[in-house]
Amino acid sequence: MNSADRTILMTPGPVNLHPRVREALGSAIVHHRTGPFRDLVRGVNRRLQQVFATEQPVLILTTSGTGAMEASVANLFSPGDRVGVISSGKFGERWAELAGTYGLEPHLLTVPWGESADPGAVARLLDETSPRGLLFTHCETSTGALHPVREIAAEARRRGVLTVVDGITGLIAHELAMDAWGIDVVVGGSQKAFMLPPGLAFVGLSAQAQDAVRASKNPRYYLDLRPALEQWEAGDFPFTPGVGLIQGLDVALQVIFEEGLAETRARFHRMAERTRDGVRELGLRIYPQHPSDSLTVAQVPEGIDGKAVLDRIVKEDGIRLAGGQGKLKNKIWRFGHMGYLRDEDVEASLAAMKRALQAAGPAAGR
Ligand SMILES: *Cc1c(COP(=O)(O)O)cnc(C)c1O
Repeated sequence: MNSADRTILMTPGPVNLHPRVREALGSAIVHHRTGPFRDLVRGVNRRLQQVFATEQPVLILTTSGTGAMEASVANLFSPGDRVGVISSGKFGERWAELAGTYGLEPHLLTVPWGESADPGAVARLLDETSPRGLLFTHCETSTGALHPVREIAAEARRRGVLTVVDGITGLIAHELAMDAWGIDVVVGGSQKAFMLPPGLAFVGLSAQAQDAVRASKNPRYYLDLRPALEQWEAGDFPFTPGVGLIQGLDVALQVIFEEGLAETRARFHRMAERTRDGVRELGLRIYPQHPSDSLTVAQVPEGIDGKAVLDRIVKEDGIRLAGGQGKLKNKIWRFGHMGYLRDEDVEASLAAMKRALQAAGPAAGR
């Protein structure tokens, strides 16, 4: 093992892999046009539906999470369609960029970074712009903020607006009940709470969303969801899927369901609470207004080199935390809670941060 193998990933994706998932990823590849693979896929499909809390198809795409976001925009809408977008960080901005790329007319509700969207403000945006769709993020991983998806989706549903939710770091860590909350599209990604390497993405589609996919006038090829939907029930794919990753997903879902979805969520909550408390005990401030349990985001105190602290923690303690992106570069530290982590890893990360702050000097506080 080299030192990279020993580094614990406490980043908000990619995440640490469970030993059983690592073992599954090393197993022989099953050919995808065979009965055994289709059986495996159909079992995985059922479990994905449970995770998404839906009776509708959840498609497995071989792309990163952004590929599934792009597939949603390309397949549900047509050029000239108006869409509302909640923008409160890097991933909300990504929805707006994708909408612009496909010739949609995005209308933004801009929420200050670190804050959560107010459903009343979303309702006003919908009333003022009468969009076909509303694109937003469940957990905004760039700030650690959680948006009230259930309330926002209710406002959209009341107005017949298609809701498209980036649940890439919200799924599993938080309740996200696609059918019960009337959400049309939920997007997921393998390298977050699904405990897999990057490379797979998931798209759950309501009946209304499936109609929209058939009605869209956009050109599509690799990301065309129509053949994927047709072949879903049989456990087939239009192109070669990420077979090895899907074999890993089968085991990752077994691990998650053995622990239980509610228990897994409770574990994330416990780790997030412990990290938030520990971070405050170090004299640091939590950045987001309504923090998610997927990650804890702490502000870098004035006068401290945020990147130097993270580099030291990798070198001295073998733990990789994440810094900020975009305008939060060097301003925040992000502790991920997704993936295969134990309570002792959380304690180790807090102890490592304490030592790094002490080494950084008195300006770093207690
Ligand atoms: C990680 C992440 C993405 C996906 O990014 P990829 O790099 O394309 O996998 C999208 N949205 C959110 C909220 C994320 O956390």
